Amino acid sequence: MAQADIALIGLAVMGQNLILNMNDHGFVVCAFNRTVSKVDDFLANEAKGTKVIGAHSLEEMVSKLKKPRRIILLVKAGSAVDDFINKLVPLLETGDIIIDGGNSEYRDTTRRCKELKEKGILFVGSGVSGGEEGARYGPSLMPGGAKEAWPHIKTIFQSIAAKVGSGEPCCDWVGDEGAGHFVKMVHNGIEYGDMQLICEAYHLMKDVVGMDHDEMSKVFQEWNKTELDSFLIEITANILKFRDTDGKYLLPKIKDSAGQKGTGKWTAISALEYGVPVTLIGEAVFARCLSSLKDERIQASKLLDGPKMTQFSGNKKAFLEDIRKALYASKIISYAQGFMLLRQAAKEFGWTLNYGGIALMWRGGCIIRSVFLGKIKDAFDRNPELQNLLLDDFFKTAVENCQDSWRRVISTGVQIGIPMPCFTTALSFYDGYRHEMLPANLIQAQRDYFGAHTYELLLKPGVFIHTNWTGHG
Ligand code: NAP
Repeated sequence: MAQADIALIGLAVMGQNLILNMNDHGFVVCAFNRTVSKVDDFLANEAKGTKVIGAHSLEEMVSKLKKPRRIILLVKAGSAVDDFINKLVPLLETGDIIIDGGNSEYRDTTRRCKELKEKGILFVGSGVSGGEEGARYGPSLMPGGAKEAWPHIKTIFQSIAAKVGSGEPCCDWVGDEGAGHFVKMVHNGIEYGDMQLICEAYHLMKDVVGMDHDEMSKVFQEWNKTELDSFLIEITANILKFRDTDGKYLLPKIKDSAGQKGTGKWTAISALEYGVPVTLIGEAVFARCLSSLKDERIQASKLLDGPKMTQFSGNKKAFLEDIRKALYASKIISYAQGFMLLRQAAKEFGWTLNYGGIALMWRGGCIIRSVFLGKIKDAFDRNPELQNLLLDDFFKTAVENCQDSWRRVISTGVQIGIPMPCFTTALSFYDGYRHEMLPANLIQAQRDYFGAHTYELLLKPGVFIHTNWTGHG
């Protein structure tokens, strides 16, 4: 008998938690998994006492669903998604909905949308952020794809999503095709940037100011009451003061070699592909790559010289405020760049993206959740056509208020020899973006010199000419 509102395939941690979340909100969910024994395990344990039902085959699962059938896949991204789609299609009818909630590549989602549209099935690719905890108690959800599916899934999605402010859900329709997964990818890239910026602030506090862990933790706690109020700043304060079983701080014992699963890299690759200067996320990915060269760095540290570390002699309190402002200004640049990439992708693929809505989706439930994202939402509410976040009055003033501090921190760090790839690239971007004239005229001349690539004259737009620079030939 058709009794379930929705089915979910994939009973690993994310799938189980999302099912329990939907159950909490009054929806009847039918659970299925490739390894079928996990269905019974789940019903007997985690889902015991809930309204969750199970199925032991896809046929049984489909027969238990109300129409139009709604099926969420939360399986390993890649061929597992295609395998399930191929098995499901013959069992479904026109208008049924398949939702992929995994970390799929947006191009795969676009392809699947097109393939399934031809078969009359509505396909949705939804970014799901917030990890296990988010899935269980309120994730940030970024659905995109076949818009006709949205009225049928909106209530479920918005009920289970994280809420902010006066109960606004961190979930709205993102756009066509792979837009939902694209937005999730950029979210993950921004997460890389935010984390690296915090690491640079920590490095400066530890090695320039010479602070101990409790002191640094207190500073981050204080910062969490300012414009920087965010989940990542909050957990950093907790991590810094955390002591191991031997009573010593745990953080200095952790190998300084960062891992990555690839979504930051995908964002940087997209930025290069679409020609958008998303420099901060790129540097954040490269900073992880450099950190992972631990053995080489150990060798190099014995061979390569740098400035002598001197005791910090300035005003500590003032310098900490400078670091806070440098972090805030760099963060503004990172988000401005992230939204530039979204804007370019929208242009490239003909998507209509709701930028304020995206900021709201990230405002709660996910790793980059912050008060700051509310300000981004406000900026797009003020001007939905805003070309660049930096041109909004609020952010323009915020950067202006921070820039002396930002420049002081960078000069101090450079003189002492502290790597600050994200602080510095953010400032270079800001300085580049605000310059009417850049030295790219010389690049054009060089290209024309060696390759006859031609150049355009400022006073004759649209006219491309070639000069014989050597005067012979
Ligand atoms: P996962 O380890 O990525 O995937 C495990 C699930 O995929 C199991 O149900 C497994 O079935 C199934 N599976 C694996 N290979 C398969 C194949 N070839 N054919 C059919 N099914 C296959 O689980 P997860 O961590 O819960 O993540 C699920 C999805 O959400 C992934 O796309 C992940 O990237 C995404 N995601 C994860 C997080 C997170 O914090 N973990 C956050 C956001 C998004 P069996 O039980 O039969 O092996």
